[in-house]
Amino acid sequence: MDGTRATIDSAQMLAQVQAWSALNTGTANLAGLGEQAAMLAEAFGALPGTVELVDPAPVTAIAADGSAYEKPHGQHLVVRVRPQANRRILLTGHMDTVFPADHPFQRQTWLDGETLNGPGVADMKGGIAVMLHALLAFEGTAHASALGYDVLINSDEETGSLASAALIAELAAGKLAALTYEPAALPDGTLAHDRGGTGNYSITVTGKSAHAGRNPHEGRNAIVAAADLILRLKALETGEITINPARLEGGAANNVVPDTAVLRFNVRPRTTAAAEAFDDHLNALLRSIAAAHDIAAHRHGGVTRPPKPVDARAQALFDLVRQCGAELGQTIRWQASGGVCDGNNIAACGVPVVDTMGVRGGAIHSPDEYLIVPSLAERAALSARVIERLAQGALQ
Ligand SMILES: [Zn+2]
Repeated sequence: MDGTRATIDSAQMLAQVQAWSALNTGTANLAGLGEQAAMLAEAFGALPGTVELVDPAPVTAIAADGSAYEKPHGQHLVVRVRPQANRRILLTGHMDTVFPADHPFQRQTWLDGETLNGPGVADMKGGIAVMLHALLAFEGTAHASALGYDVLINSDEETGSLASAALIAELAAGKLAALTYEPAALPDGTLAHDRGGTGNYSITVTGKSAHAGRNPHEGRNAIVAAADLILRLKALETGEITINPARLEGGAANNVVPDTAVLRFNVRPRTTAAAEAFDDHLNALLRSIAAAHDIAAHRHGGVTRPPKPVDARAQALFDLVRQCGAELGQTIRWQASGGVCDGNNIAACGVPVVDTMGVRGGAIHSPDEYLIVPSLAERAALSARVIERLAQGALQ
């Protein structure tokens, strides 16, 4: 039996996942997130480092009437172990889930002897247990003193990490590598390789109201301008970027020329060049729409998760994970992913990252979400070995 694996307490892992899953931590449930952060602070207190709760960065959002407001978020957990070490890595996870406090999916159900259905069991409370127990196992090895690490568990990943992006970048800086504990891309453990990026925008169109019968020509119709914008925006789509106009809000009574419209849309760039080119095209398009309709158009948002290509150093980290898997009798594969996660943000800092080191499971973001329970210990053993190799000098 492998020495590292023998030290992993799979029963404790499962107990922790079940306790954490029982607590609702929808991204907007600040009370639940506060409780979760306290439970995680206690659990991660078993590591030989400092545990800290960090306030969220302020995040501005746009309301349906075009006004800006501040959106509240939960605190993030940061653990620092051996910060003075020369070789340091970053491990990240998120404590929030996509299920709000009033969502019907709140309980766990055993689907069979080794498959647990429940909110966040795979995405990613199971992954947090994998990370913690990999680190506990690593701390029991002779190489622990050679490696320092920071752990970040944020509270807002599922809504795009707007309140933690700066913290992610700050913690990624200077790190040799990073491991993120999203569930595997497939139930067989396949990792997500390169990823596209994503951006969310709100465009506020401000026209001028007027009476639809008495003086319609003095009005400037915000809805008409927004409709023109939607069609011309969609025409900017290329093979390198897709654009999804998702919601148009605004309007007034039938006898009023509407003076406000808010358009929300999402973009999925495949490359950083495509994301940057789109931003320039959008600015030009907004100037053109403003001139054509005599309205004002203000943009909010942008690409917050840049595309994540896999460069040579990142590939070396993938190869290391595969090699460690082979040593444990686990076959590790990877494939490109259309999804995004904090791995995108970490890669944008130039730090090699494998971002699906968490559990095997599936149907995430749905009430069918499940965890393959034996994968808790299996993936913790994999991570512990990867971390041990990084301590021993892998990935120079
Ligand atoms: Zn996740």
